[in-house]
Amino acid sequence: MGNQEQREVRTRFAPSPTGDLHVGNIRTALFDWAYARHTGGKLIFRIEDTDRERVTDEYIQRAIETLQWLGLNWDEGPEVGGAYGPYLQSQRLDIYTHWAKTFIANGDAYNCYCSTEELEARREKQRELNQAPGYDGQCRSLSAEDIARYDSEGRKPVIRMRMPDGETRFTDLIRGEVTFEHKYVPDFVLMRADGSPLYTLAVAVDDILMKVTHVLRGEDLLSSTPRQIRVYQAMGVAPEDFPFFAHLPFVMGQDNAKLSKRNGEVSIAWYREQGFLPEAICNYLALLGWSPGDDVENISMDELVKLFTVERVNSSPARFDMKKLEAINGDKIRALTIDDFLSRALPFLIKDDVIKGEEAEIAVVRSALPIIQERIARMSEVTQMLRFLFVNEVVFDEESAAKVKEEPAQHVIAQALQALENLVDWKHESIEAALRAILIEKLGLKPRLAFGPVRIAVTGSHISPPLFESMELLGKERSLARLKAAVQ
Ligand code: GLU
Repeated sequence: MGNQEQREVRTRFAPSPTGDLHVGNIRTALFDWAYARHTGGKLIFRIEDTDRERVTDEYIQRAIETLQWLGLNWDEGPEVGGAYGPYLQSQRLDIYTHWAKTFIANGDAYNCYCSTEELEARREKQRELNQAPGYDGQCRSLSAEDIARYDSEGRKPVIRMRMPDGETRFTDLIRGEVTFEHKYVPDFVLMRADGSPLYTLAVAVDDILMKVTHVLRGEDLLSSTPRQIRVYQAMGVAPEDFPFFAHLPFVMGQDNAKLSKRNGEVSIAWYREQGFLPEAICNYLALLGWSPGDDVENISMDELVKLFTVERVNSSPARFDMKKLEAINGDKIRALTIDDFLSRALPFLIKDDVIKGEEAEIAVVRSALPIIQERIARMSEVTQMLRFLFVNEVVFDEESAAKVKEEPAQHVIAQALQALENLVDWKHESIEAALRAILIEKLGLKPRLAFGPVRIAVTGSHISPPLFESMELLGKERSLARLKAAVQ
């Protein structure tokens, strides 16, 4: 195995974008990236798009953008090129055909004429007899007459790999020694009758031709590894030139089932729309199944690169916890400089029609951001937090509209209005002092009952930035006008 250790590390991220990339994909990409960067090796980004009905150009483009947005770069692949391209499998079809034909010529593979219906009928039999399901080897050694007959019937063969008796053994860098007995790995299809390659053929051929040394990928692909190794062997690759495998543990949902659309698995695009920062997503996913030790919760990309080793990847499943991701996102938001916070907040405010993006508006946003920085966990919350500053009249949400009409609230707002009308120094400290004097000290109200109605009157909602700071930002005239409107 000496060779494997001396080779320059080449990892690859090889998604089949049949939709937007999701948490599981990105966790894999992040680990591939971190491993390549940690070792000073190369990261290859390969698009596995042989299924052109499900993988579209749009999804490919979105996958590229998502990785870029997250700050994950690659050394070879779409947009950057490289010596072992093309990096889209749909542009490499002749390579797969060449190898499938070579395997037939060498006796490693054969044409299989069995129809889908015949295969299904035989599988049904296997089930009845409690036998392991899978191809029974019927076409392994057809005579010239058999072939002539099938041809005359107009049957088009698939190309099937011959799995020899025995077993495949390899050392998974995370799971240790893994053995697959071949009686459970039946002869498998390499190419469909229409000449299109299957995943197992394309992935294995490419990993060899692209000189991949380390395959880090999801555990769901563990069982395809013996088939891929079989392809390497048929290609004539020496065992010391096989890539290492490291199968990353599943990501589970909160309900302990494998993360899927049903239990919260959504695309990274969704997290982006919600205002999760790329550094928070990477930070959180980095710790999903890997840890540099102790109870580390915060990690920067630089630290990840410095500390990442496959040995520290956990072999048991990791649990996805939205609350934790949100907490990390809040931390990252609080860590932003105001300028950075501003440039990330503006797209949300513009998209949600809170502002148009004019200079004067931006100045208001800038002055308001410090008062909400402590209070939000997702960037998308800036919309709700700051909208009150940019509307002529507040629009109450249903609950708030009902509350503000109640008699006690009306009384509180009227009193607040009176107390503030003569206030000269419109600063949050003096606004607070004036309101406390009347509502808490004189009327003896609890803070929530005192300030709640005022908050609704001024911002339209019971969820808002700190009240007195909000009123200062809004200005005296507009604040008083809103209090007046609420008591009418
Ligand atoms: N293209 C495969 C997928 O998206 C992954 C290939 C691999 O990592 O081996 O599931």
